Amino acid sequence: MEQAGIEALLREMESYAAAHHVPIINERGRQAFLAVVQEERPRRILEIGTAIGYSTLLLLLHGAADARVTTLELSGERAELARSFWACAGVSDRITLLTGDAGRILAELPGKLAELYDFVFIDAAKGQYVDYFEKIQPLLAPHCTVLADNVLFRGYVLGEEKAPRRYRTIVKRLRAYIELVNHTPGFVTEILERGDGLAVTRRK
Ligand code: SAM
Repeated sequence: MEQAGIEALLREMESYAAAHHVPIINERGRQAFLAVVQEERPRRILEIGTAIGYSTLLLLLHGAADARVTTLELSGERAELARSFWACAGVSDRITLLTGDAGRILAELPGKLAELYDFVFIDAAKGQYVDYFEKIQPLLAPHCTVLADNVLFRGYVLGEEKAPRRYRTIVKRLRAYIELVNHTPGFVTEILERGDGLAVTRRK
């Protein structure tokens, strides 16, 4: 598909997400996300949290020319939609979509991989980021970047303001994620405050 067609498809996906309350990466976070992807130009990408395949498409378009993505999604309905959008873009053969609980799939991936991942985008269940980070360790290439979205969760994670009761567990778990990536030997983490907060963790 030509560039104009891809741009039109991305706008269609954004409209679909807005109309159906699908939480795709937001406008401000998107710029920071793209800057990291364009800097790294990854080849072997793992995405945790596909939704309708919007960020998957951005990863492919802004990664290396021969980039491939493996992406994980719990919802069968969203997975089907993602597949139809990728078919329109003509990129289906560069994407492997695994449907089911990401924690369970990640536990089964080591041993099944032909190549390690040089880039991981974490954007599924906010309370499970620590588990995801631990489970991806055997899947990571020596030179790799792990990008996690929503780590500042509406400003409650590092802000002064106390989170409403319904968000306290998520906020506590996201703080634990930041603590973990900041203290895992061999990795360096930078928190980008744009959007809902992105944690960029690179192996030294
Ligand atoms: N990365 C997408 C984008 O920016 O276009 C947005 C992903 S959305 C924020 C999070 C997705 O994770 C949802 O579609 C949700 O169904 C999925 N999800 C939630 N819990 C999950 C789990 N345990 N395993 C796999 N996917 C999960």
